[in-house]
Amino acid sequence: METRDSKGTALIIGGCRGIGKAVSLRLAKDGFNIVATARAATPETTELAAKITAMSVEFTLLNFDVCDAVKIKEEYARAFPETAPDVLIYNAGIAKDNMFAFMQSSEWNDVINTNVNGFYNTVQPLVFGMLARRKGRIVVVSSVSGQTGQAGQVNYSASKAALIGAAKALAREVGRKGILVNVVAPGLIATEMIKDVPVERVLPLIPLNRVGKPEEVAGAVSFLCGEDSTYMQGQVLAVNGGLYM
Ligand code: NDP
Repeated sequence: METRDSKGTALIIGGCRGIGKAVSLRLAKDGFNIVATARAATPETTELAAKITAMSVEFTLLNFDVCDAVKIKEEYARAFPETAPDVLIYNAGIAKDNMFAFMQSSEWNDVINTNVNGFYNTVQPLVFGMLARRKGRIVVVSSVSGQTGQAGQVNYSASKAALIGAAKALAREVGRKGILVNVVAPGLIATEMIKDVPVERVLPLIPLNRVGKPEEVAGAVSFLCGEDSTYMQGQVLAVNGGLYM
């Protein structure tokens, strides 16, 4: 398959399922070559590769756990031997909900390690290369829970609020060097992550009275990676149907 002139390379951390998969497909449609990560190759990653290469852009799969800093460096050395990606999306995340009074240290640590330390492990190694090129976009996927706090999600809310703080601080550090850093904060989005959420109990709180689609989050990410958002820096773009405003 011949590839079209690409807009550059977009790396999507956690780019093969749920919201991340929709982001990979959308950025491919926008003309980026896609480097997407998953912990393992699966039939779903093979299918995604086929869909993306059918759009005449390149697809590369990297396999790592965001908690495994050594493997991440090895995979980055393979994928980005000379330069950094033009666009970097930090989307990987987990939730392990429990009321705080009953929360186990493993539930706390797993969520902080994946959602926050994973951000350091995957984003920090690429920032120097992006600075050297004096251009780039970083989009971090946080959550409405990080904006408002959510009962039963003290660990997850802490992690997602931490990502907002980290993105804003990084936006201040790298803005002068042409790197835009912004956040997307989804509300309730139809993916595996909400399979145990009693959606009908939450719907009355959502003015649009429905859950969102992964593609609706991907549209916001696309905007933050495109030519219509060149004066946006350190912002939190909510995609939540009005759940929080
Ligand atoms: P999914 O459970 O469908 O996807 C989770 C993603 O995170 C997968 O790509 C998964 O990769 C990756 N991931 C999880 N743990 C690790 C790890 N240890 N190492 C590497 N990758 C990991 O959920 P969503 O698509 O819904 O979630 C995507 C992001 O959106 C998350 O950050 C989530 O917190 C956030 N979000 C989701 C909301 C929702 O309602 N769905 C609402 C607000 C925010 P793998 O393919 O390896 O499993």
